[in-house]
Amino acid sequence: MIAIHVDKVRSIQSNFFNEIEEQREIAITKLKKLNKKTTNLKDKTYLEEVILLFDSNPDILLWDSIKINNEKDKFRSLPTYPKTSKTGKVTLCKTEIKDKILTALGYRNLRSSFYPMYFKEIGIKSCVYCNSQLTISAKRSSVTNDYSAKFDVDHYHSKSEYPFLSICLFNLYPACSSCNRIKSDNVVEFELYTNNRIKAIKSDYKFKLTAYSKAKYLITKDPKDIGFTFDEPTPSNITTKTINDVFHIEGIYQTQTDLIEELIIKSQIYNKSYLKTLKYNFDKLSIQPELFKRTLVGNYTGDKDLHKRPMSKLVSDIAKDLGLI
Ligand SMILES: [Zn+2]
Repeated sequence: MIAIHVDKVRSIQSNFFNEIEEQREIAITKLKKLNKKTTNLKDKTYLEEVILLFDSNPDILLWDSIKINNEKDKFRSLPTYPKTSKTGKVTLCKTEIKDKILTALGYRNLRSSFYPMYFKEIGIKSCVYCNSQLTISAKRSSVTNDYSAKFDVDHYHSKSEYPFLSICLFNLYPACSSCNRIKSDNVVEFELYTNNRIKAIKSDYKFKLTAYSKAKYLITKDPKDIGFTFDEPTPSNITTKTINDVFHIEGIYQTQTDLIEELIIKSQIYNKSYLKTLKYNFDKLSIQPELFKRTLVGNYTGDKDLHKRPMSKLVSDIAKDLGLI
């Protein structure tokens, strides 16, 4: 729900220079091994182009969004074969080379090794699309049957269309498993990585209490009377869906009105003189103003910090709406 400035990401990537270069070298070795075993001519032609791409571009894993956009359109489509259904309908299916390339590039292994520490440094723990859940989920190994924690990332340009972009870091958007599944091949206009400094400080998205929501709740004490809206930019293209359309943001947050209820109660009880006393006591502990606000509402309160914890966007927007912070 907020972009991160490319300069910040670049600086963190430079701390992982060796690991990232090693990923590319391992990928090339595995792709070349795969090539030796590949006999289908169409698969081999595609695979050799991927190998050339990795061999001739030492910075491929660090390509920014603009470079990725330019290069992906120059690349040939994945090889397909005709498949006939029981009703006789013929459809074109992608050959197995797509999955074999994904395995060779090691995306699945990186989810439990490199990505958790890389995105921790960038400061992302919650889903960049919905901000309602963490980006870590438990996955069962098909080999050992054991469960382990995996970092969920969505591929902005899908790995089913562009497997060679599956480990390019600017193509990775940390997302909860629900948003990851829903997004699939949907196109959304939200860009996580930006060169625009304003977009990295202020989110384009906003939750707002509906008129009289607070007054109505204070009479009935029923959270069902709490209403809110989710505002977002209108997509530039009429065929592009909004974030709310794709990820059902209002539906997800409709189940969380108890959080808003707590904020309404706090806004009634924590009057100006009480807040002044609290602030005075926090100041005696030499606590930063942001930590004071975070403690008050139970979540991060600045847009720039909203990737750090689920639900922070809703909590901070509504707390500001109520004049609590
Ligand atoms: Zn999500």
